[in-house]
Amino acid sequence: MNNEFCVDCGIEMKKTYVTFNDVKVEAQRCGNCGKKMFPEHLALKALKKLESTKLEPFYHRKAIKIGSSWAITLPAEIIKSFGVDSKTKFKIKPKLHKNMLEVHKHKDDVAKID
Ligand SMILES: [Zn+2]
Repeated sequence: MNNEFCVDCGIEMKKTYVTFNDVKVEAQRCGNCGKKMFPEHLALKALKKLESTKLEPFYHRKAIKIGSSWAITLPAEIIKSFGVDSKTKFKIKPKLHKNMLEVHKHKDDVAKID
């Protein structure tokens, strides 16, 4: 992504960081006048980072046995943030060497609008 140009000075802005609620987010700063700005892609990235930080306390869950399967329930806040509904599909990628499970929301469910 290219840097934006300062509207006052006309010079290319440089990468900087802004801290908001203890979350460090990327922004751009004019080296001449010190004006800071968030281009759209950085603003969206910052919002996602803040949203993730807000969701972190909900990440601890216990597994529940359902028949011969096991389930981990997702808190309402995560469902809302990820836009999950009954048609949403997930891809689960076990990473045994790291003792973790990666859960990916399918991208194709976004395009399916009834
Ligand atoms: Zn400037």
